[in-house]
Amino acid sequence: MVRAPLPAESDPNTLACELAWQELRASPLFGPMIRGRLYPHSNVSLTLVAEPIPGIARVTMDGRITASRARRLDAEEWRWVLAHCLLHLGFDHLDPAVEHDAAFRAAACVAVTRFQRAVKLGREPDPLPQLLPVTEEAALAARWRREGVPDGFAGPPDLDPTPVRFRPGAEPSWPERFASGLSAAAMAGVPDIPRPGRRHPEELVRKHTFGVVVDTSGSMGRQLMGRALGAIASYATARDVPAARVVFCDAAAYDAGYLPVDGIAGRVRVRGRGGTRLQPAIDLLERADDFPREGPILVITDGECDVLRIRRPHAYLVPRGARLPFTPRGEVFSLR
Ligand SMILES: [Zn+2]
Repeated sequence: MVRAPLPAESDPNTLACELAWQELRASPLFGPMIRGRLYPHSNVSLTLVAEPIPGIARVTMDGRITASRARRLDAEEWRWVLAHCLLHLGFDHLDPAVEHDAAFRAAACVAVTRFQRAVKLGREPDPLPQLLPVTEEAALAARWRREGVPDGFAGPPDLDPTPVRFRPGAEPSWPERFASGLSAAAMAGVPDIPRPGRRHPEELVRKHTFGVVVDTSGSMGRQLMGRALGAIASYATARDVPAARVVFCDAAAYDAGYLPVDGIAGRVRVRGRGGTRLQPAIDLLERADDFPREGPILVITDGECDVLRIRRPHAYLVPRGARLPFTPRGEVFSLR
């Protein structure tokens, strides 16, 4: 009788952690952060250690998650803990420009927890209070700096803001990679992201917005286009982006300005003429005074377009089977 070989690791706690990590790694949401980017960019990595860590795990700005086996959790709880660290990166909470004091850390954990509860990403091993503040995180941090962090919200530090020196061109791009993942996840129909019912001041719109170049010329069809735009709306809502800078493009580029994300679909007119030059739309966004210099760009096209040069973080959404006529530098996602 042939016996199945024993797994190298038989501690149930370690196995549960590894299972949770493999699931996150395979998910469209976190895939681009864990297995997406090539040299010189690093991916998120996980190290399990034996010694206890306050808060179970911590994460650095270069994407190193360290988790402690001293806490025994099941796979769903590990999923929560590891996804929580990934979301801190995706939400740009390790931005070195930010002051990482106790108020900011607590507000950051609230923002991540809100998202995790909304999309049901694992189970909280050490739950925050049931009712979470809905204030946007920078405003919440400012308030807690004045008034003190209330009981129950002052969690152990899971953000490790130790400065990391990056080679030029190798700086991390976690928010953009998370954005790519969210588009893909929304397309796969995964998270059901609720809509925040509040308005944002204008400068916040500018800071968090992104550009969308929509190729309205080709064979994409209304249904596919609708799904692409639905994905964008999900992403924007999760990042509290009320409006995106939109350029429609077929024979010429039409600047639609800032549009509410869930209103973009209603503005699209697929013209079906085929053949497009999208570079003018990219140039328009890259030169626009009212579009932030670091704003990422999403290109929705059927692939029948010119060779694009995009200097910003960017991603492509294309119909399944479509090929871009060049080797893309940004992530490419296929629409089913
Ligand atoms: Zn946290």
